[in-house]
Amino acid sequence: MLKVKFLGGAEEVGRLGVIINMDGKVFQVDYGVIPEKPPLFPLPPEKIDALFVTHSHLDHIGALPMYFQNDGVDIFATEMTSNTARPMLNDSIKITSIEGYVERFNREDVEKMYTFMNHTKYNEKLDMDDINVTPYSAGHIPGSTMWKFENSDEIMVTGDLYTGDSKLLNGAKPKKARNLVVESTYAGKNHEDREEVRRRLRERVSEVVEHGGKVILPSFAMGRMQELIMSLSDLPYNIATDGMGNLITSIYLNTPGFLRSDKEFRKALSSVKAIRGKRMRENIDSADVIISTSGMLDGGPVLSYIEKYVHDSRSAIFMTGYQVEGTNGRNLMEKGTINLSGVEVKPDMAIEFFDMSAHAGHDELISFIKSCQPENVILCHGDQREAIVDDLDNFNVILPFNGKEFTIQ
Ligand SMILES: [Zn+2]
Ligand SMILES: [Zn+2]
Repeated sequence: MLKVKFLGGAEEVGRLGVIINMDGKVFQVDYGVIPEKPPLFPLPPEKIDALFVTHSHLDHIGALPMYFQNDGVDIFATEMTSNTARPMLNDSIKITSIEGYVERFNREDVEKMYTFMNHTKYNEKLDMDDINVTPYSAGHIPGSTMWKFENSDEIMVTGDLYTGDSKLLNGAKPKKARNLVVESTYAGKNHEDREEVRRRLRERVSEVVEHGGKVILPSFAMGRMQELIMSLSDLPYNIATDGMGNLITSIYLNTPGFLRSDKEFRKALSSVKAIRGKRMRENIDSADVIISTSGMLDGGPVLSYIEKYVHDSRSAIFMTGYQVEGTNGRNLMEKGTINLSGVEVKPDMAIEFFDMSAHAGHDELISFIKSCQPENVILCHGDQREAIVDDLDNFNVILPFNGKEFTIQ
């Protein structure tokens, strides 16, 4: 018998935690937070036999260490997810302390988690007492994984999913599964063609720089910064990167086998300068293009760069990522203003958006789901799930809610 229960992330984007009970064996996929201020946590930990991690964005891992405060449990992830999760979790502990939020776990819990960590390889089956578990690439960020569980029945959890090929990664390939738990962040919305976005971005970067301006690209540390590096590094300009993304870049370099091409990535990095330290940051006038965290403009060195060029009308801020409500980035996109050191400022810089989302759009989700040939489609990690139901009328579509266990026949 197959039972499913969400501890979070059913009817919302973020804090995914899904418990799968297969004939009495209890597995959990992910345990994340919604990165608001303060972060929203999922329902409390339950008694489970093992944890499986899809990828190291905080909305999938931000609560994981809570499972390691008392006993601990076996945890499975790709080497890339495992290596990138540690700085993300430790950074979240740092922010919790700076902002004075309630501490849910500490660095010791994170380290204890690593004593239970098992590294898995894509496409290699694990045998867990009569249940086969196989990780497949999810195409979302390096190391991201879809987990498929099989005995007499089968269920696959996609985690966050991207099916197109990016410069950094190849897209996820559908796998046959009778039951499919699939994210639906972009239900009802399609993306502009990625190649077209990249062409437009490169063209606009060139225009701004040729007219004597600087381009600031606020960027998420994980995946996005590296995708931007791959997309822009061959332009004839000085490109600099700053913030936590530089640490993630070095982990990507030191964890080979997950990118579309480690060699191409290395080559792209050779024409990009990584900024380290305050002194170097202050003397960066030679840079034409600066890619820096944080991606939602709520901290990080990116703010100091914007402050520097805020009244230079030749310069530009190019946003490439989804902006959560209430963030500086969302305000900039909607009202055209940004909070710099406590002061609301209207930049004279051009402000433009380039959709480089790492989530499958509506049509891509439909075609992925169809190719998996499921009987039951369980939609999660979305707040507009209804927008996709009409296009799935050949399947039994389930819209779960947090905390409500259901049985799949
Ligand atoms: Zn997510
Ligand atoms: Zn993600």
